[in-house]
Amino acid sequence: MKSIHFRTRLLIAFWLILIPAVCIPAFYIFKTLEAEIVRETKTNAFNQLALTHWMVKQKAPFHGPQPMDQWITRLGEKLNYRITLVKSTGRVIADSAVAFEQLPDMDNHIYREEIMRARKEGIAQSIRYSTTLKRKLIYAAKPIMLPEHPESIIRVAIPMSHIESQLTFYANRFWACLGAIFILTLVASVILARRLENPIDQVIQATKEIGEGNLDKRLEIDRGPEFLQLSTCINQMADKIQHNIEKITEQKQELEAVFEGMQEGVMLLDKNGRIKSTNRALTTIAQCVPSCIGYRPMEVFLNPEIQTACDDVIAGKQPKSLRIPIDEETIYEVNLVKIPDGGAVVVFHDISELVRLEKVRQDFVANVSHELRTPLTSIKGYAETLMDKNLRASTDAETFIKTIVKNANQMANIVNDLLELTRQQQKQQESFETVPTDAAECFSNAWEICLPMAEEKNIHVDNQLASPLVVSAEADALTQVFRNLLDNAIRHSPDHTQVTVSGLDNSDHFLFALRDEGPGIAQRHQKRVFERFYRVDKERSRASGGTGLGLAICRHAVRSMGGEIWVQSPPDGRTKGSVFYFTLNKAERENP
Ligand code: ADP
Repeated sequence: MKSIHFRTRLLIAFWLILIPAVCIPAFYIFKTLEAEIVRETKTNAFNQLALTHWMVKQKAPFHGPQPMDQWITRLGEKLNYRITLVKSTGRVIADSAVAFEQLPDMDNHIYREEIMRARKEGIAQSIRYSTTLKRKLIYAAKPIMLPEHPESIIRVAIPMSHIESQLTFYANRFWACLGAIFILTLVASVILARRLENPIDQVIQATKEIGEGNLDKRLEIDRGPEFLQLSTCINQMADKIQHNIEKITEQKQELEAVFEGMQEGVMLLDKNGRIKSTNRALTTIAQCVPSCIGYRPMEVFLNPEIQTACDDVIAGKQPKSLRIPIDEETIYEVNLVKIPDGGAVVVFHDISELVRLEKVRQDFVANVSHELRTPLTSIKGYAETLMDKNLRASTDAETFIKTIVKNANQMANIVNDLLELTRQQQKQQESFETVPTDAAECFSNAWEICLPMAEEKNIHVDNQLASPLVVSAEADALTQVFRNLLDNAIRHSPDHTQVTVSGLDNSDHFLFALRDEGPGIAQRHQKRVFERFYRVDKERSRASGGTGLGLAICRHAVRSMGGEIWVQSPPDGRTKGSVFYFTLNKAERENP
C-alpha cells in the first residue's frame, strides 16, 4: 500500500466509501420497490378474482361444459389473464388458456398450492411456475358455487411478465443513474485528487531541493489556508536552516582559519585511531601530504611511542604528553586529548628552541662555574697558605699575593665580560640604536687601552684606517669589538710581530680586517671560537688572561649593528696568523 501513488490511494479510499454509500441504499430502494409492485399485483389479482367470480356467478347457469369453457375463454381474452374452473375433484372443467378438447389431458389440479389453500382457507394466492403455460404466474383462487358444479374453484392467473418488465425498466433506470453518478463522481474525484496532489507534489519537490542544499528555494501555494500555512511553515524552516548553515559555515571557516594558522601541528584521530584531518603545520612536521588521511599515526611518524600514546588516549586512559625528537635539531612536545566523538586531538608543539635554550643555560651555568672555580681554588689555596705566620714573612709571600691578585683579576675579567655580554644581549632585545659613527676613532680608543700590552710585547700595530670612516654603529659597542679583537691579536701573537688593521669600502658597507702573525686557528675551531667560553687551548688562554668570552661579545655586538663577523686562518697568501673580518653598514648620507 505504501508504494501506491498518493492519488490512487485517495481514489481507492474515496471509492471504498462511495460504492457502499450509493449501492446499499439503492439496492434497498430497489428491493422495496420490487416488493411493493408484487404486493400491488397480488392485491390486483384478488380484485380480478373477485370480479371474475362475480361475473361467472352472474352468467351461470351455463348450457353444458363447452359453452361454459367458451364463455370463460372469451372472458379471459377480454380481461387479459388466464381463468380456470376446477372441480372439487381437481379436474379442470374450463380454462381460458387451454382448448376445450385438451381439458381432459390436463393434470389434476387438486394439489396445486392455491387450490388446496382456497379449499381450506376460502381464498388463496401463490406465485409459481406454470407447467401448463411454461411461465411464472400469480395465482389467486376461491371456491365458487355453480348450479352444475356446486363445489368448484375459480382461479385467475396473471403473468408475472409485466411485473418483471416493470422491474427491469426500474432496474435499467436505476443502473443508468448509478452509472451516471459513478462517472460523474469518477471525474470529480480525479480532478479533486489532482488538485490535492499538485500542491503536495510542490511541497515534496521544494523540501527535496532544500534538503539537497538549494537553500534559496521558496514555496508559493495559494490553494486554501491550509496550504498557505504549510508553505509559510516550509519557507520559515528554509530561512532558519539557511541562517543556521550560514552561521555554522562562518564558524567552521573561522575554526579552519585558526586550525590552519596554528604554528602547532594538529592531528585529529577518529575513534578507530585513524587520522581524520591535519593542519598545514603538521604536514611540514610529518612531511606528509594530505594522503596521510586514513592512516594510523605509526605509519606516518614511524614512531611507536606516538602510536601507543594515541591508542591509550582513545582507550580512555589519562591523557599525557611526550617529547618526540624528529631529527637532531628538532624536538616536539606531543599533547593528546580525547574528544567526545571517541577520537582524539594530537597537538605537536615545537620545543626545539626551548630545549636548546635550556641546554645553553645549563652549559652556561656549568661553564661559568668551571671558569670561576679555577681562579677561586687558586686564590683559596694561596690565601690559606698565607695564613701561616712564618710563611707570611718569607719571600714567597709576595709571589703568592701576586698570584692571588692575578686570579682575582681573572675572575673580575670574567665577571666584567659576562656583564658586557648580558648588557649587549639586553640591548639586542631592545634593538641597538645605531648612529653614524667614525670607526677610525673607535679603533683609536681601543688602541689606547691595548697600547700598554702591545708595548710590553713589542708588537707594532699598523693602522690603515683613514678617518673619518663613518659607519652605522654604536660607538661603545664598536670600540669594544676593536678592543677585543686587538686584545686577542696581541695576546696570542709572539713578541716583535705586527698587527694590521684595515677597512675596505664595499659599496653599501665597510669590511674591516684585523690581521696578526700569531699561531692562527685551526679550521675545525674557526666557527666555534665565537661561542661563549670556547677556547682552542684552554690553559694558554687562561694563562694569557683570556676569559673565553671576547669573541662571543664581538659577534653579539656586530650582529646587533647589522653586520657579520668571521675568521680566516691563515690569511690569504700567508702560512701563519689569522685575520678577523667584520662588516658594518655605511651611515646614511644625510647624517655625515
Ligand atoms: P679568550 O679570552 O680566551 O681569548 P676569545 O673569545 O676572545 O676568548 O677567543 C676564543 C678563543 O679563540 C681563544 O681562547 C683562542 O684560543 C682563540 N683566538 C682568538 N683570537 C685569536 C687570535 N688572534 N689568534 C689565535 N687564536 C685566537
